[in-house]
Amino acid sequence: MVDNHNKNQRSYNMRRVRSHNTNPELQVRKMLHRMGLRFRLHRKQLPGCPDIVLVSRRVAIFVHGCFWHGHDCKRGKPPSSNRDFWIPKLLRNKERDNKNIIALTKLGWHSMVIWECELRTPYKLEAKVTKELALESRFESISGTK
Ligand SMILES: [Zn+2]
Repeated sequence: MVDNHNKNQRSYNMRRVRSHNTNPELQVRKMLHRMGLRFRLHRKQLPGCPDIVLVSRRVAIFVHGCFWHGHDCKRGKPPSSNRDFWIPKLLRNKERDNKNIIALTKLGWHSMVIWECELRTPYKLEAKVTKELALESRFESISGTK
């Protein structure tokens, strides 16, 4: 595969799509830990092998790189060169993500996507997570975990 796009500009994108224990993932784990949440990692038996799973709440969390998963943000844009290669590839990733979320929903799981760019404003991200979990608090309250 010939890769023409600007390596300096895009080097952070070159991680593999479904690599585990990435820096953004570790940041999310730290945050959840601080929030007093118990979680498990990389449940292979669930669709899409979610990065983080809150088992008792049936919440699956995906930590997604904006580039690979086509986030609607500055970092999520496909490269301006080699578009014939990148656009279908990135679209396939998005389709796969959607399929996984639909499959999880069918199994009774709530999916939450945390985007890499959201980690730049941790307080906002924490508010988002709190809000989504509150909506899903069918089992226990967040403060009840510690
Ligand atoms: Zn983004």
